[in-house]
Amino acid sequence: MGDTNLSAVLLEKGNLKLEERPVPKPGKNEVQIAMHSVGICGSDVHYWVHGAIGDFVVRAPMILGHEASGTVSEVGEGVTHLKVGDRVAIEPGVPCRYCDYCKGGRYNLCLEMQFCATPPVDGSLARYYVHAADFCFKLPDHVSYEEGALLEPLSVGVHACRRAGVTIGSKVLICGAGPIGLVCLLVAKAMGAAQVAITDIDTKRLEVAKQMGAHCPVLVKSRDGREVAEQVVQALGCNPDVTVECSGAEPSVQTGIFATKSGGVLVLVGLGPPTINIPIVNAAVREVDIRGIFRYANCYPTALSMVASGQVDVKPLVTHRFSLEQTLEAFEASKKGEGIKVMIHCDKNKT
Ligand code: NAD
Ligand code: ZN
Repeated sequence: MGDTNLSAVLLEKGNLKLEERPVPKPGKNEVQIAMHSVGICGSDVHYWVHGAIGDFVVRAPMILGHEASGTVSEVGEGVTHLKVGDRVAIEPGVPCRYCDYCKGGRYNLCLEMQFCATPPVDGSLARYYVHAADFCFKLPDHVSYEEGALLEPLSVGVHACRRAGVTIGSKVLICGAGPIGLVCLLVAKAMGAAQVAITDIDTKRLEVAKQMGAHCPVLVKSRDGREVAEQVVQALGCNPDVTVECSGAEPSVQTGIFATKSGGVLVLVGLGPPTINIPIVNAAVREVDIRGIFRYANCYPTALSMVASGQVDVKPLVTHRFSLEQTLEAFEASKKGEGIKVMIHCDKNKT
C-alpha cells in the first residue's frame, strides 16, 4: 500500500483541488478500499459549480464522488465477508440501521444517513477510502470495476422501476435520456416492459437511447406538456401504463401526468425546481398515482445480479475516461454534458 492519498477535494464552490490527505484506517466493521473507478454524477458537478443542492450546503472542504468501486486493501475488526484483494462496489449511503425507516427496509429515508459527497460527508474520489463493510458488494471476476461503479445509478433505475410497478408487458414512458433516464430504460426492459418511449430535447441523447433499446424516441420541441403527451401517445400507440420522469423539467412533469394512462403511475425521479406547476386535478380525477423516489434501498444486490447475468449492459454509458490526476478535466467534460458518463480511474496500477 502506498502512503499517500491523493483526493479530489471541493474546498468551496468552484474550487476543486487535488490534495494529499492521510490514508484512512478501517475501524470496526469497516474496510479500506484502494479505489479504482469513480463515475461523476450530476450532483458532484452541481456541488462544484453551485456549492449546494437545496438544503445541503458545502460549508467545509469535502471529497467528491459516490459512484464507486475498488479493491479491499485492509479489513477492520469484525469483518468476515470480505478479505484483502476482493473487488467491490460501494453502496455510498450508510444509514443508522436502528430507526423505524431502517428497520422497515426503507433505509434511504433514514434521517441519520451518511451519504458520500453529500455535505458534510466525504466522498470516495481518492486513492484510498474507508467504508462500512456491509455496504460493499463483492464483484464477480467477470464484472468490471466500471460496471461496479455504475451499480450506483443503476440502483436508482431499479428503485424507480420498482416504485413504478413496471412488469411484463408494461408500456413505459421515460422522460429525459440522461444517465438516469437511460438506466431506467435498461431496467424497465429487463423487468419486462413491452414498449418504452423516451423523450429528450437533445437529439444526440435520443440517439443513444435508441441504441440502448428504446422503442420510441420522442424529440421534445414544445414546452406545452399536453402537446408532448400527445406526441408520446402517437409514438407508443397508447397511453403509457407508467411514466418515469427523469428530467425534473416542469413541462416534462406535466407531460408525465397528461400522458400516463388512467389508473397508472408517475414516478418522479428528476429533481428540478422545488416548486412547479402541475395539472394535479387531471391526475386526481384519473387516479394517476404520483410517487417520488429518493436514491434507493436494497437495490445494489439486484443491480449487481442484473449486470453479472447479462440482463443489462451498462458499459455503453461510459463515454469519457480520465485518471485521478485529471479530475478537473473530467469535471469540465462532465459539465459540458457532451457524453453520458465520465469515469475517473484512481488506481495507477490497474486498468
Ligand atoms: P441529466 O441532466 O444528464 O439528464 C436530464 C435529461 O433531461 C437531459 O438529457 C436533458 O436534455 C433532458 N431534458 C431537459 N428538459 C427536458 C424536457 N422538457 N423534456 C424531456 N427531456 C428534457 O441528469 P441525470 O444525471 O440523468 O439525472 C436526471 C435527474 O434525476 C436529475 O434531476 C437528478 O437530480 C435526478 N436524480 C434523482 C435521484 C433521486 O434519488 N430522486 C437520483 C439521481 C438523480
Ligand atoms: Zn436509520
